[in-house]
Amino acid sequence: MARFNGATWKPIPTNYTAGGQDSVHGVVIHIMDGSYAGTDSWFRNSRAQASAHFGTSRAGQLCQWVDTANRAWAQAGGNRAWLSIENEGRGGDTLTDAQLSRCAEVLAWAHKTHGVPLRLTTDPNGRGLGYHGMGGSAWGGHTSCPGSRVVAQLPEILKRAKAIAGGSSPAPTTGSYTVKSGDTLSGIGRALGIKWQTLAQLNGLKAPYVIRPGQKLKTKASAPKYAPFPGEAYFKGKPNGPLVTAMGRRLVAEGCSAYSSGPGPQWTNADRESFRKWQRKLRDAPAYCDGWPGKRQWDALKVPAV
Ligand SMILES: [Zn+2]
Repeated sequence: MARFNGATWKPIPTNYTAGGQDSVHGVVIHIMDGSYAGTDSWFRNSRAQASAHFGTSRAGQLCQWVDTANRAWAQAGGNRAWLSIENEGRGGDTLTDAQLSRCAEVLAWAHKTHGVPLRLTTDPNGRGLGYHGMGGSAWGGHTSCPGSRVVAQLPEILKRAKAIAGGSSPAPTTGSYTVKSGDTLSGIGRALGIKWQTLAQLNGLKAPYVIRPGQKLKTKASAPKYAPFPGEAYFKGKPNGPLVTAMGRRLVAEGCSAYSSGPGPQWTNADRESFRKWQRKLRDAPAYCDGWPGKRQWDALKVPAV
């Protein structure tokens, strides 16, 4: 399925099940109870019978040992449906600030790539960000992994992942899924965090919803047509980017130009004056015609997504 390009790819030759990641319900946090280098070499030893998809060092290195198409051997009965991150440290440690960020990056990526919802879970049958001990004996009985002090840090990982992912957009996924033998539409939907009805609709499937192995299913609607409102503070920060140009072009098209040149990517007073013209065109009350875009006014302008 996938490798995270934010992680150093350090494939291990053994200790995983090729093609065995049946679904991705979430990300499980572990503590190595050892060092980053030591864990890396142990996972290359076939006697270990253990691995993880990702690893972090206390200094903030991040590696990926196992492609997420493959089942890492990190939490016994939880392996088939969960990705794993091993973190350098001893039992009872907290994760370093850098490790919290690396875990958040993996979680945000898993959200984007595998539709993992950005929430905490303590349910081995749930979805989201979890930890090894929550699986109890079915997950190998490692109730002290990663330890209560790390479990207390999970909300911080979640918070950072949300910031990376850009808020609470609906769980996006990769654009397509190739049907495997034995798949059902509802099973695929559960694995990807998409309603099966949505999958059917995206792919023009009608009852009895027949799918065949090898068939490629669309798992994502085409990109939204219009750019979402980036927030008033975005404009007040004098942004420089393609969104400003796209907005300017729409203002010009609406006959709301105060530009003597442009529009261009750098937010200037001409952008503000042009937007003020748009606010007046919307017949907004004077208090709302200050040149700073508001959400309703922005949405009405229908700025193409950039
Ligand atoms: Zn563990």
